[in-house]
Amino acid sequence: MENNNSFPVPGRALVITPHPDDSELGCGGTVAKWIKQGTEVVYVLCTNGDKGSSDPDMTSHKLAELRKIEQQKAAEILGVAEVVRLDYEDGSLEDTPLFRGQIVEAIRRFRPDVALFTDPLRTEFYLHRDHRIAGTVTLDALFPYARDRLHYPDHESEGLLPHKTPDALMWGSESPDTFINITGSIDKKIEALVAHKTQIPSCEESDELANLVKVTAARVGSRCDYKYAEGFRRISFSL
Ligand SMILES: [Zn+2]
Repeated sequence: MENNNSFPVPGRALVITPHPDDSELGCGGTVAKWIKQGTEVVYVLCTNGDKGSSDPDMTSHKLAELRKIEQQKAAEILGVAEVVRLDYEDGSLEDTPLFRGQIVEAIRRFRPDVALFTDPLRTEFYLHRDHRIAGTVTLDALFPYARDRLHYPDHESEGLLPHKTPDALMWGSESPDTFINITGSIDKKIEALVAHKTQIPSCEESDELANLVKVTAARVGSRCDYKYAEGFRRISFSL
């Protein structure tokens, strides 16, 4: 039984992830659950994650190649229909008309019922710059840019019409108000996370990660009477 702070299973969900693996951490259980219930999910992967390694033998080029494969594998484990890669360098996201236009294009192309991404607003805890910028740009792209046909008018000639996405669900929020029961899909979330081998190279680290994911999901779940849950801050666009 779902409680009042949950969210109905959407037909189409667009996930905007700053780096490979952020989306699995933030909403992997929700994505796996919804896909099993018939939702079509598309990812937009903003950066190639080419700075995320402390291995002295690793290069940015090699890391980007490995993380592309890892993200594809994780998406396949969850059943994601497509991963759109924008291929920005890790740490290079800026709030530019080009980046905003790429998110607007994804929204107009896929026409989601809900978009999931990082909450860009935090006051009590630090936040990666790419997460903050990806979140801010996505919010702006959802409202009003994707909605209004005179923004990015070239899209119309490509057959992409304006689109109103009814809802945004933001992970990593300090004030989540919407909770998804992931008790039945937490194992898929962990399996998808472990596919990011460059980030979790050893079995011990995989076990630690699985434990951390369960402890975190149980803590969120205790707020809504689910064994395991993911929490989001929801914004509904009514205009
Ligand atoms: Zn990240």
